[in-house]
Amino acid sequence: MQNYEDRAVEVRQSDVQNQLKIIANHLITYNYLQDTSSEVINAELEQLSNLYSGRVLIINGNLKVIKDTYGISEGKTIISEEVIKCFKGTSIANYDRNNGFIEITTPIVEIVSEEMATERMPAGTELTRGVMLTSVSTDIIVATMAVLNRKSLIIEIIMFIFIFVIAVILSKVLIEPFERVTKAITEVGEGHLNEPISVPDYLETEHIVNAFNDLHERMKALDDSRQEFVANVSHELKTPITSVKVLADSLLAQPDTPAELYREFMVDIATEIEREDKIINDLLALVKMDKAAGDLNISTVNMNELTEIILKRLRPIARKRDIELLLVSVREVVAEVDEVKMSLILTNLVENAIKYNKEQGKVTVTLDADHQFFTVEVADTGIGIPEESLNRIYERFYRVDKSHSREIGGTGLGLAITRNAVLLHRGSIKVESTLGEGTKFLVKIPLSHTIL
Ligand code: ADP
Repeated sequence: MQNYEDRAVEVRQSDVQNQLKIIANHLITYNYLQDTSSEVINAELEQLSNLYSGRVLIINGNLKVIKDTYGISEGKTIISEEVIKCFKGTSIANYDRNNGFIEITTPIVEIVSEEMATERMPAGTELTRGVMLTSVSTDIIVATMAVLNRKSLIIEIIMFIFIFVIAVILSKVLIEPFERVTKAITEVGEGHLNEPISVPDYLETEHIVNAFNDLHERMKALDDSRQEFVANVSHELKTPITSVKVLADSLLAQPDTPAELYREFMVDIATEIEREDKIINDLLALVKMDKAAGDLNISTVNMNELTEIILKRLRPIARKRDIELLLVSVREVVAEVDEVKMSLILTNLVENAIKYNKEQGKVTVTLDADHQFFTVEVADTGIGIPEESLNRIYERFYRVDKSHSREIGGTGLGLAITRNAVLLHRGSIKVESTLGEGTKFLVKIPLSHTIL
């Protein structure tokens, strides 16, 4: 609209200016500035003012109005900035938008001819003899603008409604796959759906859905392992209780049981209770370690001395089966560790190496370190672990040979506890084993425990 207005005003201005230039020439030709009686010029001026609904004032060199098409100001003197400037050669055209007119000043120029030429005024010199001050109405432009404004408003409203409708439809269509994702996730959440969901409409929905499926898988695995753990715990705790009950019942069933048989049964009952106690203690140790991740009681420990103490404690058990316990200290190892948990790691590994060894076997504990880590290797000459069980031995309650392990007092929790304790120290545990030849556990732990 602004463009239209500017352009229309420009066109009108140049139209009127062209007309005025022609009339200005006629004014000189008809000597109108001296004599305003010329019919031709008056008719021309009248026609111009009618055509553009305007007013033309002709001002002579004395700034006197010699002609006013409205007939109001004739004979008056006019001293306005625009007129003076025009005498000096600057013609202006002002658009007064508020009052709806264009004001134009046009110089009335006489060119000095050969005959009139003097020394001071050579031929061809332009002399401004007077000024035409014209104002033309722009009512038509304003009226056209009003019509155009109305039309453009209608177009704007139609466009707005159109864009709004398109936007609503588009957003509905575009959002649809996301709503499907939400619906699918809700269904999974409510338990109606248990398979992986799929909304492959956009790359984005696919990514969201994949991330959700992964999370769901992990949660399912976690839930499965929790259920399995609870089932295992119940089973493990129940076994000794069942034995105790069977033993007690059989004692009660015989009215006069000899005292030796009583004693014998009571010894068995005590063994079962001891077993129950061991399982509970192991479980508590495991739970405590799960809960208090990072809750380490760090102190500087001489690993060689600690290992020596543990081996000394376990030697009587080893001796029973004629197993040799050996400590190889490659170098002195002093590390920042939790002493209690470190003892637990060593005890469990060496105990296993004794438990799953052969008569007259050998257990070698090797201590070594570099500038960053220390390593403890526990190698035995025992029964070994089958290949397929190697990555399951750290599972809670996993035992390669359940009945054998139980016979020798295993709970299946020892390695789970050991691994947790190693991980708390930000270390790693590895196992190598050859069935029938022996097993080697390698624990690697940082020498210094700086909290990150
Ligand atoms: P457990 O109380 O039964 O010993 P662990 O968690 O300590 O439980 O060990 C899990 C299983 O790994 C054991 O039941 C045993 O089958 C196997 N195992 C552990 N250490 C050894 C070893 N040094 N030699 C052979 N088998 C081992």
